[in-house]
Amino acid sequence: MPIRLHNSLTRSLAELQPRTPGQVTMYHCGPTVYSSPHIGNFRSFLFADVLRRFVEDQGYRVTQVMNVTDVGHLTLDDIEGGEDKMEAASRKTGKTAWDIAKQYEAEFHDCQHKLHVRLPHHMPRATDFIAQMGSIIDDLLQKGVAYQANGNVYFEVARFPGYGKLSGKVLDELESGARVAVNDEKKDPRDFALWKTDQKHQMQWDAPFRGGARGFPGWHIECSAMSMHYLGPQIDIHTGGEDNMFPHHECEIAQTEAHTGKQFVGIWMHARHLLVDGTKMSKSLGNFFTVADILGKGYSGLELRYALIRVQYRQALNFTLQGLDEARAAIGRVQQGRQRLVRFRDGLERAGSDDLATAVAAANEAFTAAMSEDLNVSEALAALSGLVNAGNRAQPSAVGAKSALAAFARFEDVLGCFGPEPKADATGDAPAELVALLPQRTAAKKAKDFATADRIRDQIAAAGWKIVDAPSGSRLEKA
Ligand SMILES: [Zn+2]
Repeated sequence: MPIRLHNSLTRSLAELQPRTPGQVTMYHCGPTVYSSPHIGNFRSFLFADVLRRFVEDQGYRVTQVMNVTDVGHLTLDDIEGGEDKMEAASRKTGKTAWDIAKQYEAEFHDCQHKLHVRLPHHMPRATDFIAQMGSIIDDLLQKGVAYQANGNVYFEVARFPGYGKLSGKVLDELESGARVAVNDEKKDPRDFALWKTDQKHQMQWDAPFRGGARGFPGWHIECSAMSMHYLGPQIDIHTGGEDNMFPHHECEIAQTEAHTGKQFVGIWMHARHLLVDGTKMSKSLGNFFTVADILGKGYSGLELRYALIRVQYRQALNFTLQGLDEARAAIGRVQQGRQRLVRFRDGLERAGSDDLATAVAAANEAFTAAMSEDLNVSEALAALSGLVNAGNRAQPSAVGAKSALAAFARFEDVLGCFGPEPKADATGDAPAELVALLPQRTAAKKAKDFATADRIRDQIAAAGWKIVDAPSGSRLEKA
């Protein structure tokens, strides 16, 4: 079945047709490492992870690159008005910009791990690619599409007729919008910086191009240099958050295509902003959550992952704590259903005659169809739930249980939000809502919150179950 993805460039669904048959190249705009990653960032990164996993599921070999922006990303989109985010964080904390970058890059990797992200094949740092950025800048200067002014280098937008094709922003509109930030040294207010000279900046380099002054690169040129280094001049898929579309991706297209003379990206994909409690996440509204905040409340990485991927990436997703509780219950239901099947497969329950063949085929087909249509995760989850229900109703044969478990393993390989196949004896047939309490109790015990741990134990006891703690984890048995 062809994979169809929404291409922001054409504003329509496009069939994935990789340049090299059987192999797909993907570039994802990664984190700017100046503060703790928040759940809004991770909606976009998890979308990229699910995309890669599904494309692999469909038999392609994927090469995935995600950059780490550790220099040059300004606090405002307008490169004239902003301060480098790393430098701003350095000023606030008294740490060096280099230490800030190192600290938050490590935290980002930790979050990837906790949210069960399959690591991209390459995660280059912008500061390691100054020379490659320099050779692009050099070429753009030679071609006359970039110019120097007082040591700064600007891309001359008027020399690239395709500017605006991704974001749909027409030139006049851009011109009047840009007039706010008047900068006399630019030929045109729309021109954007490739290189900034600034002796005060902590991160600075001798110009990596001919005839330039010491300084630091603009943000946009970083992604062009790193994607080209690993994936060549043309890539199949480029993703980012919807806020990356303009100006960042528009500028990436202009400078890369002006440099190579080739179409840069086959399919541009953009994940929609995450809403929290119905509105945009912001510190002043008190609805701003880092990944660590959520995990600190006792939710697991799987639960957070489920809550962030359960809605298709282009649809509005409203994140709430209640949604995390729903994620916990949904995961519990799936794991309980899988566990029941394990017991039939392994002979711990007397097997019946149901081979589940129809249900397994229908679930696999519906899952593939949903994911192939622009990664419709909510429909894919519905297909998976259908198989949970069919399995729960059936008295399966060992072979039937085995084939259903293989389907669940496949769905888990793509979505990654349920965890490994449960052990046969982990929680017996305990109700899902009780099973879901176990990780909360473990987290409470870990945090030495014994009151909560005891309250959960009492709640489980009141329902007629007891907790058995074993080295491999806790499980429930009938009291
Ligand atoms: Zn980028």
